[in-house]
Amino acid sequence: MDSAERILQQLRQRGERITIQRRMVIEALCEDCDHLTINDIQKQMESRGYELDEATIYRILQWLKAAEVISQTDLGARGIVYELIGTKRHHHLVCLNCHAVIELDDSFADQLREQVRHEHDFEPRVDHLAIFGWCAQCRAAKAATKN
Ligand SMILES: [Zn+2]
Ligand SMILES: [Zn+2]
Repeated sequence: MDSAERILQQLRQRGERITIQRRMVIEALCEDCDHLTINDIQKQMESRGYELDEATIYRILQWLKAAEVISQTDLGARGIVYELIGTKRHHHLVCLNCHAVIELDDSFADQLREQVRHEHDFEPRVDHLAIFGWCAQCRAAKAATKN
């Protein structure tokens, strides 16, 4: 069974209603298992002969986010991206200067989750973090220009 069918089945089992539009968005997300902007998803659907406006895609993405199927992350210059959570949970360091994106393993967030649970009695959903800052190269370049 391909991943789109598996996701659709899980959602049906939870009593979610699967419309044709919802199915189309899920299939587009599964086609390109990567960070996708709403625009990417729209283009992906167009290439398969479907048309949906941005507002509709956005609503479907918010539904999928609430259902814990996808994550939503602001990657700065690359915009807000959506990704299937199931594929490979990870996080990012994003350089504010050169926009380099460094991938972090999900174990990075374990301690944060524990801390939030214990100190705030809050069950966090840390799906896909983006931490903004300065990479080593940009810091070195900045330091060099000061001299
Ligand atoms: Zn990512
Ligand atoms: Zn940088």
